[in-house]
Amino acid sequence: MAGALTYLSDQPWPAGTLVRVPLGQRELLGVVWDLPGPDAAAGAASNALDPAKLRPIAAALDALAPLSPTWRALISFAASYYQRSAGEVALAALPPQLRDLSTLQLARRLKKRATQAAKAPPAQLSPAATLTVDEPVPQLTQQEPAPVALSSMSKNTDLVALTLEQIRAIGQFHAQPGPFLLFGATGSGKTEVFMRCTADLLAGSATAQALVMVPEINLTPQLEERFKARFSAQYGLDAVVSMHSGMTPAQRLASWLAAHSGQARIVLGTRMAVFASMPQLKLIIVDEEHDPSYKSHEGARYSARDLAVYRARLDGAKVLLGSATPSLESWYHSRPAAEGGRYQRLEMPSRVGANATLPNAAGVLPLVRRVDMNHQPKGCVISPPLLDAIAQRIARGEQSMVFLNRRGYAPVLSCSDCDWKSTCPHCSAYRVFHKIDRSLRCHHCGFAERVPRACPDCGSLDIAPVGRGTERLEEQLAVMLSGISHPDGSAVRIARIDADTTKLKGSLESQLAQVHSGEVDVLVGTQMIAKGHDFRRITLVAAINPDGALFSSDFRSPERLFGLLMQAAGRAGRDASNTSRSEMWVQTFHPTHPLYEALKQHDYPAFAQSQLLEREQAGMPPFSFQALVRADARTQEAAQAFLNAASQASATVPELAAYLTHITLYPAVPMSIARVANVERAQMLVESPSRTALQRFLNTWQTTLHATRSQPACKGLLRWAIDVDPLLI
Ligand code: ADP
Ligand code: ZN
Ligand code: ZN
Repeated sequence: MAGALTYLSDQPWPAGTLVRVPLGQRELLGVVWDLPGPDAAAGAASNALDPAKLRPIAAALDALAPLSPTWRALISFAASYYQRSAGEVALAALPPQLRDLSTLQLARRLKKRATQAAKAPPAQLSPAATLTVDEPVPQLTQQEPAPVALSSMSKNTDLVALTLEQIRAIGQFHAQPGPFLLFGATGSGKTEVFMRCTADLLAGSATAQALVMVPEINLTPQLEERFKARFSAQYGLDAVVSMHSGMTPAQRLASWLAAHSGQARIVLGTRMAVFASMPQLKLIIVDEEHDPSYKSHEGARYSARDLAVYRARLDGAKVLLGSATPSLESWYHSRPAAEGGRYQRLEMPSRVGANATLPNAAGVLPLVRRVDMNHQPKGCVISPPLLDAIAQRIARGEQSMVFLNRRGYAPVLSCSDCDWKSTCPHCSAYRVFHKIDRSLRCHHCGFAERVPRACPDCGSLDIAPVGRGTERLEEQLAVMLSGISHPDGSAVRIARIDADTTKLKGSLESQLAQVHSGEVDVLVGTQMIAKGHDFRRITLVAAINPDGALFSSDFRSPERLFGLLMQAAGRAGRDASNTSRSEMWVQTFHPTHPLYEALKQHDYPAFAQSQLLEREQAGMPPFSFQALVRADARTQEAAQAFLNAASQASATVPELAAYLTHITLYPAVPMSIARVANVERAQMLVESPSRTALQRFLNTWQTTLHATRSQPACKGLLRWAIDVDPLLI
């Protein structure tokens, strides 16, 4: 394998064994990748394999079982597909403490696990069983005392009667090989299906493991609670572990060891969990599979959703993707087999509790109302009819949620006398005005300053915020709703949830708790509040200004907007005790846009069909395959020169020239925000109708890119990287 180093060993450690090896002055963690084959002897003539020059491995972590062949195959595939080295991918996939602990420390850790596990077999459930390793206690049990967790457990283990749609979906899941796409409306009971499929797997095998992935850390505690409630009593508290970047290194190691040893039967995690070592992996579930968070933004820019499907095939596991608004890629893969579809689509169109004879029942999807902003008072933020609807909700003691995809007070501050605007000196972007601490903050590089008293250019005192973010929306709503009071006579309570209000650990949880307990009448926030959370008392959801995405240069932006609005609509009306049908409001200058028409009908298939048609005509994914090469440099010229030179060079390399008939190399262009923190950024799109052709081209082109770096025109180039299947163009 490219990039692997050769070491001497006095013992034939099997492939997959974790080892410590010297490199220069340091000692690093390594994985025995291959045993030397016959060509090692042939290569012995070269310097690299001269036995006299090879160094011995320092130690083998042989207390741990070797990493499985399928795990190594997954790493190799991910490295090759995403154009990185296997060593980088493998190391990122292992818990950091595995690197840092000495062999001795690790051995102690393992011994302690073993003795404690022996003392508390899973059947004898006790809260103390979580304490097998130093700090494995997941956040959830840390915050709640154990007895509470236990009581909620026994309550929740009572199984609900499945809906007919759930029964059918589970039946198909068991009858067919998959991969599956569970296309289920928000509130159709997808999570229940996930849990039943997991329960059936565990019941049918004493060792089988399931991996359940969610897009966001914020959503793991909720899911963990539901899975622990369902599975801990039967399989032990250690049977369910989490894996995400919000955990301490010790917690991550504990979860990793539990998964690697097979003790953990269920691993819940964010995208990083796709690399968990699970020797008995038999089921992978990807919840909200359309979510962009499954795509990594640094290092190997992998898609955990796509790797999940690949990994399932390697491991002989079933894979179940779920969403109310699937990615167009997955939707396309799940078209009928006769048309070439590879996934089986399982459909659950109805909300749990839907009943046609009861139009006001909780199960009915919310009514979508479009407000034509062309006919509203000029410059109004919240149109009069929307304001009225919110006021009615408050009077009835119901909650509303208003979202705007921009945090801060105003996106830019401007001088009305000269042309000064609050640009960031380091980026090609404006600094956002945050009123709470009177700062101007760049959301790209973090540069922050106090708001100047006067215009820095002309000295005028007349500098004013332009546009609005959530902070200003909250303030304006408070003014607009000041005449209205709550049924009990108290003042209207408005809360805001966005990245600014949730910086402190635990603050999101406490703010959500306030919403759930009914202490809030109107919740203002960014898309953060539109995802995943189950708000039972909210009966009105409003998108204040979503039009921007309709005309974005990024072809995926309508797909993201539609998903976001459907998800947001899904937040409303989950409580059967609400008297009125819930509503989703959209303020728009383009009320007849097909996207909003489809939204009104809750018709994802119609939306997907029209988008797929457009993409097919334009030759865009999923009808073509893309990669972006990004370059960072001191100057925009150098960044573009590098990309264009590498592009031109490809025509002169015979192996590459052969692929060029199947590949389109576009000219280098500046990224939409060209300069961030004084670094100029450019990108080049590479496209092909064939995934294989694109892969082969990129694999070979890497060498050319490396060589191009040293050309004089590229002086000032800082770094470059390839993003395969990019999500943001
Ligand atoms: P989704 O993930 O599809 O949005 P959930 O699985 O969260 O939906 O289910 C929505 C709500 O319906 C949850 O409160 C869940 O407990 C409940 N639920 C799910 N299945 C059933 C069922 N068969 N009977 C009654 N309630 C159910
Ligand atoms: Zn000025
Ligand atoms: Zn900046």
